[in-house]
Amino acid sequence: MRSIYLSDTDHLIYDREIKPYLPLQIFDAHTHLILNDHYSDLDSVPLATDPMLGNVDMGYLQHWWQKLFPDSRVHGLVMGFPARGCNIPEINRYVAEHVTPENRFSLLVHPLMSAGELELMIVGYKPVGLKPYMVFAAVDDVQQACICDMIPEHQIALANKYKLAITLHVSKGRGMADPQNLADIRRLAEKYPDCNFILAHCGRCFIPPNMEAALKHLPALPNLWVDTSAVCDIGVFAMLLDGFDRSRILFGTDLVTASGIRGTYVRFGMQWQWVTSAQLTPVGNKPIEATFAAYENLCALLYAVKFCKLKKCELDNIFFNNATELFQLQ
Ligand SMILES: [Zn+2]
Repeated sequence: MRSIYLSDTDHLIYDREIKPYLPLQIFDAHTHLILNDHYSDLDSVPLATDPMLGNVDMGYLQHWWQKLFPDSRVHGLVMGFPARGCNIPEINRYVAEHVTPENRFSLLVHPLMSAGELELMIVGYKPVGLKPYMVFAAVDDVQQACICDMIPEHQIALANKYKLAITLHVSKGRGMADPQNLADIRRLAEKYPDCNFILAHCGRCFIPPNMEAALKHLPALPNLWVDTSAVCDIGVFAMLLDGFDRSRILFGTDLVTASGIRGTYVRFGMQWQWVTSAQLTPVGNKPIEATFAAYENLCALLYAVKFCKLKKCELDNIFFNNATELFQLQ
């Protein structure tokens, strides 16, 4: 088993900025298993070729949880890792067979899956959710894919029938701030009230102007949720905590491949990008001592929690109780 090493910087950040606020029980609503053999085009998953970030089985994911959050008991929602050229049936079979009972899992879906094909998998594997992704959309530019290009309505109708959650990583330049994404999510969430829509990465609003614009128009619906994974911007979280129903916010990490990096997600103008210390040129002779993006994400969230003066019970809800309601954990 590979062992995760925590540096002095990591320990300092955890002890000062994270541990004092982290509840004892955590449900991580956004994680991935990845077996590199399931991907024919690993070049499209560059992080998975990193010896610490690829080939993540259940035991290795739990090892990351234990190392990053040593004072908490962590379970989570586990999904296959979606990427071009991945073997979706094999990945779903693998995830369904290997996720331990205290955890929950979602199935990867491809927009070309028929209703019959998908229903067989839902009935056979009994997932709690579905996980579409933009790279599977049959459109010229997947960066402009609409929600239904990623997950057509016959699949959403099945999610509604079986009361599943759909973890949506929305596309388009401004994520959930895009008018068409906003119109689509309102229509779909109203039409399919037993399907829970989880907008991953704060609705893929990694930067404040997108979060602000999305919050102006996002409907308040009981089946519309947001996960906090990978966003590393205090301003985004301050606006989310101030402007969105706190009972519909789920903590998530996006471990391991996307947030086990030593780096962060950073704004560049109206865009954002993940950046690792290895990509940077140090100024002077001191090396850059980056921490994990998962810690950067948590620090940003927890500073916003302080700024917005959340009560302890609201913090417990975001880290655990909201997921308990959604996934009926008890
Ligand atoms: Zn993810």
